Formats: sequence, C-alpha cells, structure tokens
Amino acid sequence: EALRAHDRGGVEPLEISLDQFREALTRENRTLKRALTDPRIFSGIGNAYSDEILFHAQLSPVQSTGLLKPEQIEELYGAVRSTLELWTQRLRDEVGDGFPEKVTAFRKEMAVHGRYKEPCPVCGTAVQRIRHADNEVNYCPRCQTAGKLLADRSLSRLLKADWPRSIDELEDRQEEIAKQREPAPPKPPPPKPAPPKTRARASSRTQAAAGGSTKVPKKVAKKATTRPAKKAAQKPGPA
Ligand SMILES: [Zn+2]
Repeated sequence: EALRAHDRGGVEPLEISLDQFREALTRENRTLKRALTDPRIFSGIGNAYSDEILFHAQLSPVQSTGLLKPEQIEELYGAVRSTLELWTQRLRDEVGDGFPEKVTAFRKEMAVHGRYKEPCPVCGTAVQRIRHADNEVNYCPRCQTAGKLLADRSLSRLLKADWPRSIDELEDRQEEIAKQREPAPPKPPPPKPAPPKTRARASSRTQAAAGGSTKVPKKVAKKATTRPAKKAAQKPGPA
C-alpha cells in the first residue's frame, strides 16, 4: 500500500497523547526543526508544516529538544495538532472526498513558510530564513527567536564579520541601504572652476607667504664611515 511505503516508523502526530509526543520528541537531542521533520520520529510533518508549527508555538527552529521546558513541549504539542488539523481541513474542503495531498509547497495562507521578507502576520517583522541545499527554514525573528537572527550560511559567508546578530541591527542596516537606494536628490551643480582672477591672487599670495622661494627640506644622509678595510689593515697580517 502507498501509505505503508512511506511509513518510516514515525508516530502519527494526531494520534498520540502529550506524553507520547514528549517521549518521541526528546528521545534524541536534536534541533526542533530536525526533530519535527524526521520521518523516523513523526509521520507527515514536512518542511512547510514544521515552519508553521514552530511559528504558532513561538519556538526557534534551532532550539534543542533536550532543553525544552515542559510548558514549551505542551505548547508545541498543541501547535502540531492545531496546524495539522487546520491544513487537513483546508485540503479536504478543497478536494472534497479525495485524499488530501501533502503540502510541501508554498501556500498563501501560511504564516511564515515560503514568506521570506514578507511581514509576519502577528508582529509585521520581515520573515527570515535559513537556507540549506534543498530547502529553506522560515521564521519570525521577533515571535520565535527573541530578535536574534539565525545564521544563514550563504549570507553569513557573503557578509563575513558583518553578519547582523539581531533583527534590529538588520532593519537598521536595511534602512541605511534603502536610503542609499532612494532616488538621489537633485544633484548639486558640478563645482565651477574658480574665476581666473581669484586663482591668480591666491597663487601670488601663496608665493608671498612662502617668501618667494621653495623650501625643500634636505636631509643629507651621512655616509657610513665604517671602513672594514681599515679595520682589517689594523689586524696583524698573516704570519
Ligand atoms: Zn512575528
């Protein structure tokens, strides 16, 4: 059966209790994003749903499962259920009696997934991302990571030490960049060459100040006076 072929041993998240959820989630210490999307742990939570779940639980995708507080696990359990139920219902409404297909692509109703740079529906902050080879993690840096930006490898490589540590820093920088990109105000006219009269006066004044002569400090380098030949001559000659 098709379903069984996809079964890789993960538990069905809508069919488990909070205790079972906690047990599955914390069996290994992983980041939340990895734990949620690992088919050996949970069945059917892909990249898109996991972004949405973490957003609704207000948890960072890189938070370690081993360091979660009990109330955070409970919050996450609730977010898993509400997100999956919401999308199952939405897809059912769309396809009628047909079997709802898994959502992996961007859906416009999603809060953060596939919405890089779009405003967070809760706080309006630009949604951020962590890019990997074949996918992308999207999150809100205010709702989920306390203002901290998670290092995006390709971007941090590009910016090196310039990588902003917080969303505030990033926004400040983007404001600066936006200002620089704004259509430049009318350019001031190019500097006019000074009228010849003034120039002549200026140059004569300069000459007068300098006493009409050019001072060139000369440093006369003393030539080395050591003469190894003399020293050698003082030595007794070979017998
Ligand atoms: Zn937000």
